[in-house]
Amino acid sequence: MRQLTIYQRVFYDSDCYKNGIAQEPAGVQVHSTGAPNSYLKRYVQPDDGRLGRNIYGNSHNRPGGDVCASAYIGKLEDGTVAVYQALPWEQRCWLSGSGPNGNANRKGYIGFEICEDNLTDERYFLDAVMGQAVLLTAYWCQEYGLDPDAAVRDHHELHDMGLASNHADITKWLRKFGRTMTDYRAAVKAALAEGIQVTYINCDEVKGMYEAKATNPGSYLNLRKGKATTYAVVAKIPQGATVTVLDDADPVWWQVAYKGSQGYAMAEYLTPINKPAETTQTQPSESQEEALAPLLENLQVTLEAARGAFLAVLDAIEKLKEGLNK
Ligand SMILES: [Zn+2]
Repeated sequence: MRQLTIYQRVFYDSDCYKNGIAQEPAGVQVHSTGAPNSYLKRYVQPDDGRLGRNIYGNSHNRPGGDVCASAYIGKLEDGTVAVYQALPWEQRCWLSGSGPNGNANRKGYIGFEICEDNLTDERYFLDAVMGQAVLLTAYWCQEYGLDPDAAVRDHHELHDMGLASNHADITKWLRKFGRTMTDYRAAVKAALAEGIQVTYINCDEVKGMYEAKATNPGSYLNLRKGKATTYAVVAKIPQGATVTVLDDADPVWWQVAYKGSQGYAMAEYLTPINKPAETTQTQPSESQEEALAPLLENLQVTLEAARGAFLAVLDAIEKLKEGLNK
């Protein structure tokens, strides 16, 4: 028996999840991101205490994105390689784009993205691609009765079949270490023959940021599927009840868990109970403050310019990648 741990961090904020189309998995599509960033936090948020925080707000768990994998494989903040589930397995993902013969997503291929590094680290390749990705592929084949030879294809092969956009993943990465998709499928078959045992860890149950009390004036506070009152109510939180805060980055809508449901509630009606204290800082004296003021101002201008430039680059990479993945 081979062991695989899957962390569950469903992309409640993504349009793909919200538009969720149920379908039975009929194949596996294997992708890698095409950008040199091996950390999961680039794509998977909110932080569960393992991922680390993406401060740029450009993860795939956000409205407006058009790429959304069923799962992501890459590094946690501490460098260990992990698998994160982003969509229910029996739901259509947005990965392949289209070719002249159709679209692999719609043909029932579920798939994952492996976070690429610069494609030179063999240890990471063996761990992420030939390790965790092979195990996840074998697990899906086991669960849905799929034959690896017939049903497992990478983006490059799907393009050749006319079912995906023109992209070289993951063939390009395999080639760097002398392997092909035939080798990948052979590794999947070997794992499948042994059998895969999966341990699921639900991130929302394991790691909240802190607890908060519902202090709404009415009897119930609505927990909604999205960050607006137009979204469906997934649970009604009674006044005075305790919820777990999962993400408080948005000043208006906090992501919270309540009795097994999770969604968004209005921050103004939530009062933190055991929020960890911010680190205290020593106050500078007035003269120090005066001396620092022009320096701080300069620093702020520089940082703002740098941030603008950085976001423009990230945006360009994202556009390029989405264009390629469509
Ligand atoms: Zn791809």
